[in-house]
Amino acid sequence: MEIFKEFTFESAHRLPHVPEGHKCGRLHGHSFQVGVHIQGDPDPHTGWIRDFGDIKAIFKPIYETLDHNYLNDIPGLENPTSEILAQWIWRELKPLLPELCQITIRETCTSGCIYRGTGTL
Ligand SMILES: [Zn+2]
Repeated sequence: MEIFKEFTFESAHRLPHVPEGHKCGRLHGHSFQVGVHIQGDPDPHTGWIRDFGDIKAIFKPIYETLDHNYLNDIPGLENPTSEILAQWIWRELKPLLPELCQITIRETCTSGCIYRGTGTL
């Protein structure tokens, strides 16, 4: 079974590696939505996999690093695409939340990214 908690934060960024004149190369902001998914079996007594409040507390320092900040200034986010942001959040969170199984990022209502910890990490 899988549960998730969603967070929204506002950040500015620009993408330094897009072609000349691409709109994403200009400084702009998003209301990013992050989904933190964890997997496990519900505890027979509590009936839950984990307290949603635990996820919120564990995510808080990451949230505070990202919210109302310029993402490009954060080490590891010099090219802050949704893909790289998802991997960055995974790296920060996985040691604290071993049950983590998926990070979703939405940078607009229609554009986003899902990362399940595969690939080069
Ligand atoms: Zn953008």
